[in-house]
Amino acid sequence: MEVPKLLTTQHIRYTKAKLINDGVAIYPCSPQDHRALTRTLTDKGEEYHTFTLSEERTLRVVIRGIPEGITPSEVQLDLEQQGFPGAIVHRMAGRQNRQEMPLVLVQAQADQESILQVTRCCSLVVRVERQRKQQVATQCHRCQRFGHGQSRCTAAPKCVKCGENHSTHECKKSRDTPARCANCAGPHPASYLGCPKYPKSKQTKTPVKTHTPTPTQTAANTQPTPAPTPGTSYADMTKKDTTTNTS
Ligand SMILES: [Zn+2]
Ligand SMILES: [Zn+2]
Ligand SMILES: [Zn+2]
Repeated sequence: MEVPKLLTTQHIRYTKAKLINDGVAIYPCSPQDHRALTRTLTDKGEEYHTFTLSEERTLRVVIRGIPEGITPSEVQLDLEQQGFPGAIVHRMAGRQNRQEMPLVLVQAQADQESILQVTRCCSLVVRVERQRKQQVATQCHRCQRFGHGQSRCTAAPKCVKCGENHSTHECKKSRDTPARCANCAGPHPASYLGCPKYPKSKQTKTPVKTHTPTPTQTAANTQPTPAPTPGTSYADMTKKDTTTNTS
């Protein structure tokens, strides 16, 4: 990897550069170094994405009791009026049938801990809980790589279904054509938890059964642990992040 050499020649200062799954993570010393770095990488035509430290410090909570008739933006607005501006709200989908559940996932600022005390939202009685520890790796919806979100990604878009260089919503793949993984070229969507390129390190606590992955298996099969709360489980909550349509 030529990046460290590049940094030296461009006089970009960084505190550390570490190898990650699919590249190098570089931590520049200052905003100036950050700008110089992104400029250099753009000039060189390198694919990169940025992340901020504050982004790593977001607080992720689940609000229970928000039925599907209420949109994420209504929840967002309501939270803003309650003093929690800038929250990012997503509707959670069910595990099997992508059925909507009365749950929304909220990404708030790390210092907005008092959001956990919210009991009413959109005129409904709700319960706010901290999201259970992330066992599922973040996957970029744009380039399908792991460890960052699409909002900060400048890499070429890759399709989650067919692995080609187009964004997923532009995919023309028919239902009968098998999926092709953007990360390993295997016969599964790039979001498949059983993909050999799926980061293993995050799954330390839950023993994951090593079924031989087949394209037809659902993500749920790799999480044999019974759901701790009846009706919902971690897999349910993160469905949107981890498994996108297979067709
Ligand atoms: Zn990406
Ligand atoms: Zn496609
Ligand atoms: Zn794969």
